[in-house]
Amino acid sequence: MLITHATQAAPDVDRNEDSVVTGPDFAVVLDGATAAPGIDTGCIHDVSWLVARLGAELAGVLLTGSPSLTDALGNAIEGVMAQHEDSCDLDNPDSPSSTVAIVRDRGETVDYLALSDSPIVLRRIDGSIDVVHDNRNDFLPGYTVEIVRQQRNAPGGFWVASTKPEAAKEALTGSVPRESLDCAGLFTDGASRLAERHGLRWADLIELLARDGPTKIIDRVRREDERLAGHRPGKVHDDATAVLCRFDAACPPWSLQVVATGQSRWSGMRWPDSIRGDAHATLRSWP
Ligand SMILES: [Zn+2]
Repeated sequence: MLITHATQAAPDVDRNEDSVVTGPDFAVVLDGATAAPGIDTGCIHDVSWLVARLGAELAGVLLTGSPSLTDALGNAIEGVMAQHEDSCDLDNPDSPSSTVAIVRDRGETVDYLALSDSPIVLRRIDGSIDVVHDNRNDFLPGYTVEIVRQQRNAPGGFWVASTKPEAAKEALTGSVPRESLDCAGLFTDGASRLAERHGLRWADLIELLARDGPTKIIDRVRREDERLAGHRPGKVHDDATAVLCRFDAACPPWSLQVVATGQSRWSGMRWPDSIRGDAHATLRSWP
């Protein structure tokens, strides 16, 4: 597996709360969640501390053993908790948290795990696309501080890597034959917004990544963010990370073949238009 990556803080902040950790056979992407101003997190540490420790714990687990990705993440969350259980209130629901996306090459198969809003796009040799996107946070009953607090790491809500190891069991996970794979892309939402906000299909996003590399993804998202500044709600910029994992020496020409739409695990709820409209992607939804 050949891995290339780029990660960059948003232009208007001085600290990147995304992180990337790679090894000989794995790539991990993390996106720390910025707490709302004035919130008591019960933790003396900031999000960057959490993201760095979680990345280090995951690297340790993945370099020294071969547990399932679910167990690897559960162990890593426990490892981070042990580092501040004596100084911080780990029962505080606003404790710093992070998304997690992992791809691991196991030779015969490639495993993946996605927890919270850092999507993984898998492109097969036949050109078909799998989008692995844990976007449960798009379906909350509201977005006030109190509602988000109630929904975080709670059944029926959304799950993040923070102070509950059982969150690992809530991640989207799977395994695909390595020989069927062309490449994989891992993104934080600051980069995947090219598909979710700026109109690219997921297939276009992975093609751009495979053809031009991770830095071009970030260049493109900064240009698109600027173009829409003032015209859309939400942050103009975000920390952005893109990782390309290639499973062959070169990504061959391909054509899209799979046509499918997805549906969320909640009856009657549709995936957002940006995903549903990508008629050439297979969506990994909930079992
Ligand atoms: Zn702490």
